[in-house]
Amino acid sequence: MKIRKLPTLLINQIAAGEVIERPASIVKECVENSIDAQATQIDIAIEQGGHQLIRISDNGLGIAEDELELAVSPHATSKLHSPDQLAAIGTLGFRGEALASISSVSRTKITSRPTRDGKAAEAAAVLEVEGSRLSPPYPAACAPGTIIDVRDLFFNTPARRKFLRQPSTEFAQINEIVTRIAMCNHNIGFRLTHNDRKITDLPPNQTRAQRVISLVGKDIKNGLLEFSHEDLAEHGGATLWGMAGLPEIARATNKFLYLCINGRVIKDRNLIHAVREAYRGLIPPEKTPVAAVFIEMPAEDVDVNVHPSKAEVRFRKPKQYFGLVRNAIRQCLLDNDL
Ligand code: ADP
Ligand code: MG
Repeated sequence: MKIRKLPTLLINQIAAGEVIERPASIVKECVENSIDAQATQIDIAIEQGGHQLIRISDNGLGIAEDELELAVSPHATSKLHSPDQLAAIGTLGFRGEALASISSVSRTKITSRPTRDGKAAEAAAVLEVEGSRLSPPYPAACAPGTIIDVRDLFFNTPARRKFLRQPSTEFAQINEIVTRIAMCNHNIGFRLTHNDRKITDLPPNQTRAQRVISLVGKDIKNGLLEFSHEDLAEHGGATLWGMAGLPEIARATNKFLYLCINGRVIKDRNLIHAVREAYRGLIPPEKTPVAAVFIEMPAEDVDVNVHPSKAEVRFRKPKQYFGLVRNAIRQCLLDNDL
Protein backbone atom coordinates (compact mmCIF):
# COMPACT_ATOMS: atom_id res chain seq x y z
CA MET A 1 0.00 0.00 0.00
CA LYS A 2 1.34 3.40 -0.94
CA ILE A 3 1.06 6.26 1.52
CA ARG A 4 -0.40 9.37 -0.07
CA LYS A 5 -1.32 12.83 1.12
CA LEU A 6 -5.11 13.35 1.03
CA PRO A 7 -6.46 16.03 -1.31
CA THR A 8 -7.76 19.16 0.45
CA LEU A 9 -11.43 18.50 -0.36
CA LEU A 10 -11.24 15.09 1.28
CA ILE A 11 -9.40 16.50 4.30
CA ASN A 12 -12.15 19.09 4.70
CA GLN A 13 -14.91 16.51 4.31
CA ILE A 14 -13.30 14.36 6.98
CA ALA A 15 -13.05 17.36 9.30
CA ALA A 16 -16.68 18.16 8.46
CA GLY A 17 -17.59 14.77 9.95
CA GLU A 18 -16.51 16.14 13.32
CA VAL A 19 -18.03 19.60 13.31
CA ILE A 20 -20.85 19.48 10.77
CA GLU A 21 -23.17 16.78 11.91
CA ARG A 22 -26.40 18.38 10.76
CA PRO A 23 -27.97 21.73 9.81
CA ALA A 24 -27.95 22.90 13.44
CA SER A 25 -24.15 22.55 13.53
CA ILE A 26 -23.86 24.89 10.55
CA VAL A 27 -26.11 27.41 12.24
CA LYS A 28 -24.02 27.19 15.40
CA GLU A 29 -20.70 27.67 13.59
CA CYS A 30 -21.93 30.57 11.46
CA VAL A 31 -23.71 32.38 14.30
CA GLU A 32 -20.57 32.04 16.40
CA ASN A 33 -18.57 33.56 13.55
CA SER A 34 -21.01 36.47 13.45
CA ILE A 35 -20.61 36.99 17.19
CA ASP A 36 -16.82 36.90 16.88
CA ALA A 37 -17.17 39.52 14.12
CA GLN A 38 -18.90 41.81 16.69
CA ALA A 39 -22.30 41.68 15.02
CA THR A 40 -25.14 43.32 16.95
CA GLN A 41 -27.87 41.77 14.80
CA ILE A 42 -27.91 38.22 13.44
CA ASP A 43 -30.65 36.90 11.18
CA ILE A 44 -31.08 33.21 10.53
CA ALA A 45 -33.35 32.11 7.68
CA ILE A 46 -34.00 28.40 7.28
CA GLU A 47 -35.85 26.57 4.52
CA GLN A 48 -37.00 22.99 4.91
CA GLY A 49 -35.18 22.42 8.17
CA GLY A 50 -31.94 23.43 6.48
CA HIS A 51 -32.12 20.71 3.82
CA GLN A 52 -32.72 23.43 1.27
CA LEU A 53 -31.23 26.62 2.68
CA ILE A 54 -29.46 27.95 5.73
CA ARG A 55 -28.80 31.68 5.56
CA ILE A 56 -27.01 33.59 8.30
CA SER A 57 -26.79 37.37 7.86
CA ASP A 58 -24.96 39.68 10.22
CA ASN A 59 -23.91 43.30 10.53
CA GLY A 60 -20.42 42.47 11.77
CA LEU A 61 -16.96 43.46 10.60
CA GLY A 62 -17.05 41.29 7.48
CA ILE A 63 -14.30 39.58 5.49
CA ALA A 64 -11.93 41.47 3.21
CA GLU A 65 -12.33 40.49 -0.44
CA ASP A 66 -8.74 39.27 -0.68
CA GLU A 67 -9.27 37.01 2.33
CA LEU A 68 -12.46 35.30 1.17
CA GLU A 69 -10.63 32.33 -0.31
CA LEU A 70 -8.55 31.99 2.81
CA ALA A 71 -11.69 31.99 4.95
CA VAL A 72 -12.88 28.76 3.29
CA SER A 73 -9.50 27.04 3.38
CA PRO A 74 -8.71 24.71 6.28
CA HIS A 75 -6.83 25.90 9.36
CA ALA A 76 -7.13 29.53 8.34
CA THR A 77 -8.33 31.88 11.06
CA SER A 78 -8.09 35.53 12.04
CA LYS A 79 -8.53 34.62 15.72
CA LEU A 80 -5.43 32.75 16.78
CA HIS A 81 -1.86 33.58 15.95
CA SER A 82 0.42 32.01 18.53
CA PRO A 83 0.45 28.88 20.70
CA ASP A 84 0.29 30.79 23.99
CA GLN A 85 -3.10 32.20 22.97
CA LEU A 86 -4.53 28.68 23.18
CA ALA A 87 -4.35 28.89 26.96
CA ALA A 88 -6.81 31.79 27.13
CA ILE A 89 -9.15 31.87 24.16
CA GLY A 90 -11.33 34.96 23.98
CA THR A 91 -13.32 34.14 20.83
CA LEU A 92 -15.88 31.45 20.13
CA GLY A 93 -13.94 30.15 17.13
CA PHE A 94 -10.22 29.54 16.74
CA ARG A 95 -9.81 26.28 14.81
CA GLY A 96 -10.25 27.76 11.35
CA GLU A 97 -12.23 24.72 10.24
CA ALA A 98 -15.90 25.59 10.05
CA LEU A 99 -16.14 27.42 6.74
CA ALA A 100 -13.77 24.93 5.06
CA SER A 101 -15.88 22.05 6.36
CA ILE A 102 -19.25 23.60 5.53
CA SER A 103 -18.21 24.55 2.01
CA SER A 104 -16.79 21.06 1.35
CA VAL A 105 -20.18 19.40 1.93
CA SER A 106 -22.63 21.95 0.47
CA ARG A 107 -23.05 24.70 -2.09
CA THR A 108 -21.91 27.73 -0.15
CA LYS A 109 -22.06 31.40 -1.05
CA ILE A 110 -20.34 34.05 1.04
CA THR A 111 -21.27 37.68 0.53
CA SER A 112 -19.32 40.09 2.64
CA ARG A 113 -18.91 43.82 2.86
CA PRO A 114 -16.15 44.49 5.36
CA THR A 115 -15.69 47.45 7.68
CA ARG A 116 -12.13 48.39 8.56
CA ASP A 117 -11.14 51.29 10.82
CA GLY A 118 -14.78 52.32 11.02
CA LYS A 119 -15.14 52.58 7.25
CA ALA A 120 -17.29 50.18 5.22
CA ALA A 121 -15.96 48.93 1.86
CA GLU A 122 -17.70 50.40 -1.16
CA ALA A 123 -19.30 47.12 -2.18
CA ALA A 124 -19.59 43.54 -1.07
CA ALA A 125 -17.69 40.69 -2.68
CA VAL A 126 -19.23 37.28 -3.31
CA LEU A 127 -17.44 33.95 -3.26
CA GLU A 128 -19.20 30.79 -4.38
CA VAL A 129 -17.85 27.39 -3.42
CA GLU A 130 -19.04 24.03 -4.64
CA GLY A 131 -16.94 21.14 -3.40
CA SER A 132 -13.39 22.08 -4.35
CA ARG A 133 -14.47 24.56 -7.04
CA LEU A 134 -14.22 28.24 -6.10
CA SER A 135 -15.67 31.02 -8.24
CA PRO A 136 -13.48 34.12 -8.60
CA PRO A 137 -15.02 36.72 -6.24
CA TYR A 138 -17.46 39.13 -7.90
CA PRO A 139 -18.94 42.38 -6.55
CA ALA A 140 -22.48 42.84 -5.23
CA ALA A 141 -24.53 45.46 -3.40
CA CYS A 142 -25.16 44.63 0.25
CA ALA A 143 -25.24 46.27 3.69
CA PRO A 144 -22.01 46.11 5.71
CA GLY A 145 -21.61 42.64 7.21
CA THR A 146 -21.70 39.08 6.01
CA ILE A 147 -24.27 36.70 4.52
CA ILE A 148 -23.51 32.99 4.42
CA ASP A 149 -25.82 30.90 2.20
CA VAL A 150 -25.59 27.16 2.55
CA ARG A 151 -27.60 25.10 0.06
CA ASP A 152 -27.91 21.40 -0.75
CA LEU A 153 -26.23 20.17 2.39
CA PHE A 154 -24.31 16.90 1.89
CA PHE A 155 -25.05 16.91 -1.87
CA ASN A 156 -21.63 15.36 -2.48
CA THR A 157 -21.52 13.10 0.58
CA PRO A 158 -24.57 10.80 0.17
CA ALA A 159 -23.61 8.70 3.17
CA ARG A 160 -24.05 11.78 5.36
CA ARG A 161 -27.19 12.95 3.60
CA LYS A 162 -28.90 9.70 4.56
CA PHE A 163 -28.68 10.75 8.20
CA LEU A 164 -30.54 14.02 7.73
CA ARG A 165 -33.87 13.83 9.54
CA GLN A 166 -37.20 15.30 8.56
CA PRO A 167 -37.18 19.10 8.16
CA SER A 168 -39.28 19.52 11.32
CA THR A 169 -36.79 17.51 13.38
CA GLU A 170 -33.78 19.36 11.97
CA PHE A 171 -35.50 22.68 12.54
CA ALA A 172 -36.23 21.80 16.16
CA GLN A 173 -32.49 21.29 16.65
CA ILE A 174 -31.75 24.62 14.99
CA ASN A 175 -34.29 26.38 17.16
CA GLU A 176 -32.74 24.84 20.26
CA ILE A 177 -29.19 25.94 19.42
CA VAL A 178 -30.31 29.45 18.44
CA THR A 179 -32.19 29.73 21.74
CA ARG A 180 -29.13 28.67 23.69
CA ILE A 181 -26.77 31.01 21.84
CA ALA A 182 -29.22 33.92 22.16
CA MET A 183 -29.49 33.18 25.87
CA CYS A 184 -25.72 33.66 26.22
CA ASN A 185 -25.65 36.87 24.13
CA HIS A 186 -28.31 39.22 25.47
CA ASN A 187 -26.77 42.26 23.75
CA ILE A 188 -27.24 40.84 20.27
CA GLY A 189 -30.52 40.92 18.32
CA PHE A 190 -31.56 37.58 16.82
CA ARG A 191 -34.21 36.79 14.24
CA LEU A 192 -35.03 33.25 13.22
CA THR A 193 -37.42 32.28 10.43
CA HIS A 194 -38.44 28.89 9.07
CA ASN A 195 -39.92 28.80 5.56
CA ASP A 196 -40.45 32.58 5.90
CA ARG A 197 -42.41 32.15 9.12
CA LYS A 198 -41.14 34.21 12.04
CA ILE A 199 -40.08 31.99 14.94
CA THR A 200 -37.91 34.25 17.10
CA ASP A 201 -37.35 38.00 17.11
CA LEU A 202 -35.21 39.27 19.96
CA PRO A 203 -34.16 42.92 20.08
CA PRO A 204 -30.52 43.84 20.76
CA ASN A 205 -29.44 45.31 24.10
CA GLN A 206 -31.75 43.35 26.36
CA THR A 207 -30.61 42.81 29.91
CA ARG A 208 -29.74 39.27 30.85
CA ALA A 209 -32.98 38.90 32.78
CA GLN A 210 -35.03 40.27 29.88
CA ARG A 211 -33.34 37.83 27.51
CA VAL A 212 -34.01 34.83 29.72
CA ILE A 213 -37.63 35.86 30.12
CA SER A 214 -38.07 36.44 26.37
CA LEU A 215 -36.76 32.98 25.58
CA VAL A 216 -38.53 30.75 28.08
CA GLY A 217 -42.22 30.00 27.67
CA LYS A 218 -45.09 31.72 29.49
CA ASP A 219 -45.41 28.76 31.83
CA ILE A 220 -41.82 29.23 33.02
CA LYS A 221 -41.25 32.94 33.17
CA ASN A 222 -43.44 33.51 36.21
CA GLY A 223 -41.62 30.83 38.15
CA LEU A 224 -38.08 32.23 38.02
CA LEU A 225 -35.97 33.52 40.90
CA GLU A 226 -32.83 35.57 40.37
CA PHE A 227 -29.58 34.55 42.03
CA SER A 228 -26.06 35.90 41.97
CA HIS A 229 -22.81 35.65 43.79
CA GLU A 230 -21.15 38.98 44.34
CA ASP A 231 -17.81 38.52 45.98
CA LEU A 232 -15.79 36.42 43.64
CA ALA A 233 -12.57 38.37 43.95
CA GLU A 234 -10.86 35.22 45.16
CA HIS A 235 -11.75 33.59 41.83
CA GLY A 236 -9.83 36.05 39.69
CA GLY A 237 -12.78 38.39 39.26
CA ALA A 238 -15.24 35.72 38.16
CA THR A 239 -18.95 36.55 38.30
CA LEU A 240 -21.97 34.32 38.67
CA TRP A 241 -25.54 35.30 37.83
CA GLY A 242 -28.59 33.33 36.93
CA MET A 243 -32.25 32.52 37.19
CA ALA A 244 -33.53 29.41 38.90
CA GLY A 245 -37.00 27.93 38.47
CA LEU A 246 -39.32 27.14 41.34
CA PRO A 247 -39.23 23.43 42.21
CA GLU A 248 -42.74 22.89 40.86
CA ILE A 249 -41.75 23.86 37.32
CA ALA A 250 -38.93 21.27 37.15
CA ARG A 251 -39.01 19.27 33.91
CA ALA A 252 -38.46 15.75 32.74
CA THR A 253 -35.66 16.92 30.39
CA ASN A 254 -32.47 19.00 30.47
CA LYS A 255 -33.92 21.26 27.80
CA PHE A 256 -34.63 24.12 30.19
CA LEU A 257 -31.27 24.09 31.89
CA TYR A 258 -29.00 26.65 30.23
CA LEU A 259 -25.29 26.94 30.98
CA CYS A 260 -23.19 29.86 29.68
CA ILE A 261 -19.52 30.34 30.42
CA ASN A 262 -17.92 33.49 29.09
CA GLY A 263 -20.66 33.89 26.50
CA ARG A 264 -20.30 30.32 25.30
CA VAL A 265 -23.05 27.70 25.37
CA ILE A 266 -21.68 24.69 27.16
CA LYS A 267 -22.67 21.18 28.15
CA ASP A 268 -21.22 20.01 31.41
CA ARG A 269 -22.46 17.06 33.41
CA ASN A 270 -20.80 18.22 36.61
CA LEU A 271 -22.29 21.68 36.43
CA ILE A 272 -25.72 20.18 35.75
CA HIS A 273 -25.12 18.02 38.79
CA ALA A 274 -24.26 21.11 40.86
CA VAL A 275 -27.60 22.67 39.89
CA ARG A 276 -29.45 19.46 40.73
CA GLU A 277 -27.69 19.29 44.08
CA ALA A 278 -29.05 22.73 44.96
CA TYR A 279 -32.57 21.30 44.56
CA ARG A 280 -31.88 18.09 46.42
CA GLY A 281 -34.97 17.12 48.39
CA LEU A 282 -37.09 19.74 46.61
CA ILE A 283 -37.71 17.97 43.31
CA PRO A 284 -37.97 14.26 42.46
CA PRO A 285 -34.66 12.82 41.24
CA GLU A 286 -36.02 12.03 37.76
CA LYS A 287 -36.71 15.71 37.14
CA THR A 288 -34.29 18.48 36.14
CA PRO A 289 -34.62 22.00 37.49
CA VAL A 290 -35.30 24.89 35.14
CA ALA A 291 -32.33 27.25 35.39
CA ALA A 292 -30.07 29.58 33.45
CA VAL A 293 -26.55 29.89 34.83
CA PHE A 294 -24.09 32.51 33.58
CA ILE A 295 -20.48 32.46 34.69
CA GLU A 296 -17.84 34.91 33.59
CA MET A 297 -14.39 33.73 34.55
CA PRO A 298 -10.81 34.40 33.48
CA ALA A 299 -10.31 32.77 30.06
CA GLU A 300 -7.35 30.79 31.37
CA ASP A 301 -9.59 29.05 33.94
CA VAL A 302 -11.53 27.22 31.25
CA ASP A 303 -10.12 25.12 28.42
CA VAL A 304 -12.41 25.15 25.39
CA ASN A 305 -10.00 23.22 23.19
CA VAL A 306 -11.35 19.84 24.26
CA HIS A 307 -13.68 18.85 21.46
CA PRO A 308 -14.08 20.13 17.86
CA SER A 309 -17.61 21.40 18.49
CA LYS A 310 -16.39 23.12 21.69
CA ALA A 311 -19.59 22.32 23.59
CA GLU A 312 -17.65 20.54 26.27
CA VAL A 313 -15.07 22.44 28.26
CA ARG A 314 -12.61 21.66 31.01
CA PHE A 315 -12.33 23.77 34.16
CA ARG A 316 -9.04 24.44 35.83
CA LYS A 317 -10.74 24.61 39.26
CA PRO A 318 -13.94 22.62 38.77
CA LYS A 319 -14.78 22.03 42.43
CA GLN A 320 -14.67 25.72 43.25
CA TYR A 321 -17.09 26.72 40.50
CA PHE A 322 -19.49 23.85 41.11
CA GLY A 323 -19.61 24.71 44.81
CA LEU A 324 -20.32 28.33 43.96
CA VAL A 325 -23.19 27.45 41.65
CA ARG A 326 -24.74 24.96 44.06
CA ASN A 327 -24.48 27.32 47.02
CA ALA A 328 -25.76 30.38 45.18
CA ILE A 329 -28.87 28.56 43.96
CA ARG A 330 -29.41 26.84 47.29
CA GLN A 331 -29.20 30.18 49.10
CA CYS A 332 -31.64 31.74 46.66
CA LEU A 333 -34.14 28.92 47.26
CA LEU A 334 -33.70 29.28 51.03
CA ASP A 335 -34.19 33.05 50.84
CA ASN A 336 -37.49 32.35 49.15
CA ASP A 337 -38.56 29.97 51.92
CA LEU A 338 -38.14 26.85 49.80
P1 ADP B 1 -12.66 30.26 13.00
O1 ADP B 1 -13.97 30.81 13.42
O2 ADP B 1 -12.21 29.15 13.85
O3 ADP B 1 -11.61 31.30 12.81
P2 ADP B 1 -14.05 29.62 10.52
O4 ADP B 1 -13.80 28.61 9.47
O5 ADP B 1 -15.33 29.53 11.24
O6 ADP B 1 -12.84 29.57 11.54
O7 ADP B 1 -13.92 31.06 9.86
C1 ADP B 1 -12.70 31.40 9.21
C2 ADP B 1 -12.47 32.89 9.24
O8 ADP B 1 -13.42 33.53 8.40
C3 ADP B 1 -12.64 33.52 10.61
O9 ADP B 1 -11.45 33.45 11.36
C4 ADP B 1 -13.02 34.96 10.25
O10 ADP B 1 -11.88 35.73 10.01
C5 ADP B 1 -13.77 34.80 8.94
N1 ADP B 1 -15.24 34.83 9.12
C6 ADP B 1 -16.08 33.78 9.09
N2 ADP B 1 -17.35 34.17 9.25
C7 ADP B 1 -17.33 35.51 9.41
C8 ADP B 1 -18.33 36.52 9.63
N3 ADP B 1 -19.64 36.22 9.72
N4 ADP B 1 -17.91 37.81 9.73
C9 ADP B 1 -16.60 38.13 9.63
N5 ADP B 1 -15.61 37.23 9.43
C10 ADP B 1 -15.96 35.93 9.31
MG1 MG C 1 -15.77 29.80 13.31
